[in-house]
Amino acid sequence: MRKLVTVLGATGIVGSKALEIIRKHKEKFYVIGISGHSNVSLLVRLAIEFSPKYVVVSNLHLSSELEQKLNNFDIEILCGKEGLAFLASQKTDILVAAITGFAGFEPIFRAINSGTDIALANKEALVAGGHLLMPLAKQKGVNIIPVDSEHNAIFQCMMGQNWNDVDSITLTASGGPFLSMNSKETQKIPPSEALKHPTWSMGAKISIDSATMMNKGLETIEAAWLFDIGKEKISALIHPQSIIHGIVKFKDKSIISHMAPTDMKVPISQAMAWPERLKIEIKEIDLLEVESFNFQDIDASKFPCFKLAYQLIEEDPCYSVALNAANEIAVHLYLDHKLEFGNIYTLVARTIDMIETTNLDDYQSIIDYDKYARNIAISMRL
Ligand code: NDP
Ligand code: MG
Repeated sequence: MRKLVTVLGATGIVGSKALEIIRKHKEKFYVIGISGHSNVSLLVRLAIEFSPKYVVVSNLHLSSELEQKLNNFDIEILCGKEGLAFLASQKTDILVAAITGFAGFEPIFRAINSGTDIALANKEALVAGGHLLMPLAKQKGVNIIPVDSEHNAIFQCMMGQNWNDVDSITLTASGGPFLSMNSKETQKIPPSEALKHPTWSMGAKISIDSATMMNKGLETIEAAWLFDIGKEKISALIHPQSIIHGIVKFKDKSIISHMAPTDMKVPISQAMAWPERLKIEIKEIDLLEVESFNFQDIDASKFPCFKLAYQLIEEDPCYSVALNAANEIAVHLYLDHKLEFGNIYTLVARTIDMIETTNLDDYQSIIDYDKYARNIAISMRL
């Protein structure tokens, strides 16, 4: 039987790769709905190719353009946040959550509520709302299968294993484009340089997060929620070759690690097809060509964003909502040349210092708190 799939963020890097996998495995998947935000022309092409029941453009201003272009097709067109929430609420076999940022939180919440399994790329939703989403998933019997490569690696290392036997997990980091530079050299470095990731091809926001190493910090919070493990069991190491993605150490000192090419098709296909595996055509690792495997600690003085995020694991969820919100604002300002690279950390740290905590025990309170933290971050613009 084919799996019914919804792809949110279909016009992005991860979403496009998910659709590429589906294109090659039509016998396995059937696309029910797709969403995009601003890239209407790509969304239209994908809609015509996959002929889903629903297409959503979440940017309200673009709805008439989409309607006009898909006028002659038997596709239901929806728009805005409400359209996205509606699509996510349609029960399918798997929803690929590939929207970037906190914008993905509400649709993921809706999808879990409807009982749909999630192939989760959108780490920001879990950073901000893991304390709500993970218990909800458990209550609804929903599987959250990680797409983020390091978490997918840990997920794969743990197949057939028992979490009670785990001593620690380690997420690897490539080190980003500025590994060999110091903070003085990177303070004013332009977005064009920060966007050049050495090993992965990614959207703009996560590329900047990788350059500041906020990405690895967000990933430690993501890991804590996904795997329900304590801070003391989570660590991260720089591994510039990006061959090993995740490492699990067991209480008998055995180590199981996961190697894969640096192509997101590996974790995306694994998450979408789980518990099966798919044959995918990508360049494979030739072990004879690998000269060395290196590992090094993440220098917190050089990558303060990593430390800031890591410190928030197990703290009041308000801090991680604020961290995520302020970081999104800071990255946006940086990409617009309105904030220096070196001030991304400062803006986020100052926002966290300013917030007052409150109860975030339901979905609306998290949405409201995200707005509150964004406003503080904007008001503190450096
Ligand atoms: P992209 O920027 O390439 O794609 C983002 C997608 O989200 C696009 O479809 C975009 O639509 C849509 N989108 C943007 N803003 C909004 C909004 N406000 N509301 C609804 N939809 C929106 O990002 P990536 O594919 O690189 O990353 C997606 C997610 O996956 C991120 O959370 C990232 O951290 C995570 N991830 C990505 C990896 C990668 O290798 N790329 C690796 C691991 C995790 P449009 O383009 O039409 O504007
Ligand atoms: Mg990752």
